[in-house]
Amino acid sequence: METIRTSTPSRTLDIKDNLSKCSQGERVIKLLSGEDLPLEMHKTTIVKKLNLMPIDERVAAIGRAGSNTFLLKSNEVFLDMLTDSGTNAMSDKQQASMFIADDAYSGSESFYRLEAILQKVFRKKFFWPAHQGRACEHILSRLLVKPGDVIPTNYHFTTTRAHIKLQGGTMIEIFTDDAMQVKSTNPFKGNIDIGKLEQAFKDFSGKIPFVRLEAGTNLIGGQPISLENIRQTAEICKANGVPLMMDASLLQDNLFFIKTREASCRDKTILEICNEVASHIDIIYFSARKFGAARGGGICLDDPMLADKIKELIPLFEGFITYGGMSSREMEAIAVGIDETMDFDNISQGPQFIKFMVDELENAGVPVVTPAGGLGVHLDARAFLPHVPPEQLQAASLSAALYIVSGARGMERGTGSEDRNPDGTECIANLELIRLAMPRRVFTMSQIKFVIDRIIWLWKNKELVGGLKWRNEPKIMRFFFGELEPIGDWQERLAKKFKKDGGA
Ligand SMILES: *Cc1c(COP(=O)(O)O)cnc(C)c1O
Repeated sequence: METIRTSTPSRTLDIKDNLSKCSQGERVIKLLSGEDLPLEMHKTTIVKKLNLMPIDERVAAIGRAGSNTFLLKSNEVFLDMLTDSGTNAMSDKQQASMFIADDAYSGSESFYRLEAILQKVFRKKFFWPAHQGRACEHILSRLLVKPGDVIPTNYHFTTTRAHIKLQGGTMIEIFTDDAMQVKSTNPFKGNIDIGKLEQAFKDFSGKIPFVRLEAGTNLIGGQPISLENIRQTAEICKANGVPLMMDASLLQDNLFFIKTREASCRDKTILEICNEVASHIDIIYFSARKFGAARGGGICLDDPMLADKIKELIPLFEGFITYGGMSSREMEAIAVGIDETMDFDNISQGPQFIKFMVDELENAGVPVVTPAGGLGVHLDARAFLPHVPPEQLQAASLSAALYIVSGARGMERGTGSEDRNPDGTECIANLELIRLAMPRRVFTMSQIKFVIDRIIWLWKNKELVGGLKWRNEPKIMRFFFGELEPIGDWQERLAKKFKKDGGA
């Protein structure tokens, strides 16, 4: 089924730097020289050795991987910027909590500790555990979506859309015009368009089982939604008698942006903002591979009838209701991780490192999504490689090229991540991005500067990067396992020029 895309113009706001005005104890330390350099509010206590293979081996590795960074082995990668999923650094307290994990099949103490933290941050009556975010989507779609249903959302995520489609539903994306502008000053590019949402309730009367908000939006550059937008969306849902659902997988960054970009929230603590966000939402689900910085997931809600139905499905698909497919150790780590998410120092690091990298790349003229969002840095492959036709997968070409010159791997988020049109032609994506995820508290400033250096070299040598064609194309979710090959010998020529310029 096709995804219907709608949009209307939105007000563009200037981003004010509210950081220095934040409330006591929640502030950003500035260098007195005036240099805008994010300061890490943590120290490294456990390290993992990295491997930077020589460039000729990297060319061979990306060839074996079909120019698909998903198919590289971790030890072939120097800086792994594929995803923030399950790869965020854990704190000493998270690690310590894992030692007291209670591996009871039923009634595990670890579950109740996690439940208590979720009650503190979301204040919902029920919490059901699941092994990861898409497992929550599977269960919720199964219960709430029937054939012909239409689900309005600010933007889809791959696994969300797949589960809704599986139940015969369609997602309609109701984003603002700014969302599709690579360059923008709109601080909340992830907002749902309120006018269009009201219209959708008229157009699809009786067919909308719920509205889904993603905070922030994964596929359009980690762009946040505002508390005001959440509040307005909740009002419309109430007026129409349907629940409002939030995918809170990336809520951590979104909380940071609400505090630092939404004037009315400047003096609120992260916990207060989180409570307020949740108060407008009926069903919250999350991937704890991101939210909570460990590995797991869950659903929080108040509705006792829906809670009962979910309770029946969890043991069928996930595991008993006091672990839901998660290990007890992970439940402990998630509980501490979510509690630590309420700490401004903790959640600032990701967005600030991302902003640093975006600013440096922009200054060098590299096309990059602005304003800087959460999750990672997004390069605009369409503007980077205008000489490569869209059918030759610009974003995939660029991510293969970047791996060759840096050993860093990003993720293609463009045409390669779409399914083909029903007539068999390529479905050219709205945005052709490569995402360089910034797993939280993982990389040092020198490593980020190294990646910036390599991207700038690539920008100056972009004509050397060519296109790709499919060598093995799966029917669904082809971006995971699909294999491509370079059209011509551009990868070898790129490596040759890089070596000539002193790279290794
Ligand atoms: C990662 C993610 C998911 C899926 O979570 P998994 O734990 O990977 O299954 C769903 N929604 C969003 C917004 C995500 O970023």
